[in-house]
Amino acid sequence: MSLFKRHTLENIEDTESFSEILDRRNFTKKLSDERPYTYWTIELYDQENGIRGGGGLGVLAADTRRVAERLEVPFVLVTPFYPVELHQCFENGESYDKVLAVDYRDFGFEYVDSVFIRCNNELVELSVVQKVFEKTRILSITEPNFRELYGGESCGDHRLYQEVALGFGGYQALKLVGLKPAIMQLNEVATFFAALARLDELVFNGMDFYEAMVYTRKHTLYTNHTLVQAAEASFSLSQFERYVFPNLKSKPVLKWLKDKFSGGSLRLSSVTIEIAELRSGVSKLHARVANYHDISGEKVKFKAVTNGIDIPYWTLPDILEFYQESNILDEKFYPSTVFEAQVSRIEAGQIREIKKRGRDFLNSVLKRRPDYLGNCLEFSQDDIIIDFKRRFVDYKRPWLPFSDLKKLRDILERFGAHYVLSGRVHSGDSRMLSKLYELLDKVQEDDYLKTHVHYLPDYDEEIARALSVGSNVSVNVPIVGLEACGTSWEKDILNMCLLISTHDGGVADATIDSYLSISGENEKEEIEQFYIRLEEAISAWKNDFDLEFWVRKELSRYLPIISGSRMLKDYVDYLFKS
Ligand SMILES: *Cc1c(COP(=O)(O)O)cnc(C)c1O
Repeated sequence: MSLFKRHTLENIEDTESFSEILDRRNFTKKLSDERPYTYWTIELYDQENGIRGGGGLGVLAADTRRVAERLEVPFVLVTPFYPVELHQCFENGESYDKVLAVDYRDFGFEYVDSVFIRCNNELVELSVVQKVFEKTRILSITEPNFRELYGGESCGDHRLYQEVALGFGGYQALKLVGLKPAIMQLNEVATFFAALARLDELVFNGMDFYEAMVYTRKHTLYTNHTLVQAAEASFSLSQFERYVFPNLKSKPVLKWLKDKFSGGSLRLSSVTIEIAELRSGVSKLHARVANYHDISGEKVKFKAVTNGIDIPYWTLPDILEFYQESNILDEKFYPSTVFEAQVSRIEAGQIREIKKRGRDFLNSVLKRRPDYLGNCLEFSQDDIIIDFKRRFVDYKRPWLPFSDLKKLRDILERFGAHYVLSGRVHSGDSRMLSKLYELLDKVQEDDYLKTHVHYLPDYDEEIARALSVGSNVSVNVPIVGLEACGTSWEKDILNMCLLISTHDGGVADATIDSYLSISGENEKEEIEQFYIRLEEAISAWKNDFDLEFWVRKELSRYLPIISGSRMLKDYVDYLFKS
């Protein structure tokens, strides 16, 4: 509930500009164009700028920078520019990855200079390239053999090389362009080496090790997205000897790091926890349940800062205009002080009108994004569309709606509804790939489902946005306890889809009656409830009263959570609390 308190009278100054908020808290001294907020991430999902991610972690990074740009926060995002990316293609019913070369020059990046790191007895030259916006910039390191995002095994040499290149190379790049970090936000542990590079430099320049550690800790935020520490990759001492230690200039830092190895291996989270005093989780539930322990065995506390999204990026201009004209969102895309009252006035006619524009947009995107059989889909304004769009991984249970094919068919047939599925299988995940084939085969064997269930390959931002604005019902059914936050459901609510979901991740920031929830005791019950909710959601689109009920409810409960401006403000509040 605390989110709503922000909009009461005592907090009315929330309507002032973000820079005024910074000023009032005396942050401007701490944050400036020369001393920006720095954000480190191995993954950025920002295709407009030539960098394609893998999932939510990268989308969050891209949204955070866009929000900072809009709110005029000096902000530098440091990330690799991957020279190649993988695209999912389908041929003769088989899914495979196509490698595509990407050139940073085609996306407005300029070459700055080179920096060097030492890996495996070689000096590696990294090009520093950057794309500068008004208030923010993307600062990248790259080289021709850098390979793709998440290339190789998660504990393999190449992965460690990429992480070391980002950390040590990125830190040098920051100095090269004349910037000092006011804060270092580490988007997951793969970016640990950036904070290590800073610590190393401070000690090398003469600061006492203990003081340098305190200083680094106070200015480093570790944002965790993973629930279980044991699930994380670890690296061996021999890998560190080849890739990490040669880049350290100070003996005390080297000794500190060596001492952290136990049994010849090291998990990056254990040292990230030590080097970052500030720690956050990405939803209330996640911050509570993330099970991490520091080296002394103490459970780590995470501050909850729920992921938000860059609202203007994920909505159509028409919808945005509607929200602003009805005084639901203010000019900074915060929910206005009266948003709840305004949301309760939204009428079915307006919702249908908005979705019409969304449907047109979806159709325009589908013209260039054929389904896996090579057919271009086109939907009429009257079709009800249900979508499931997210990475094809086990815990998200993409197969759940297909558990009872007869029920699914009955419901779709009764309403003439379509089910659109989109999601990439992680490269090399042969188990999920066969699950996908199995599912598609089952659909093909049924004459009705064959024409009413569709699979769109190569899921990406474009498909994500198009489905959010153009479909009616969206499905989000992770196994409860396994989704850290998730943001696709936020895009859906923002665009007035009815959400069917389990109570997990950021969805659980609000109470369970805020959307069409599934809350069975076991999977069998969840599956039964899914079909009940599906029928309820589709029926609501045929009934003005129910449609208004659910759209108003979802928006009033979730708009503050969805707002990326709220998220950035929460981060700044946490990082710079006086
Ligand atoms: C929004 C988005 C995500 C985030 O998805 P979740 O499953 O909700 O975490 C992932 N990939 C793409 C392409 C997106 O647009």
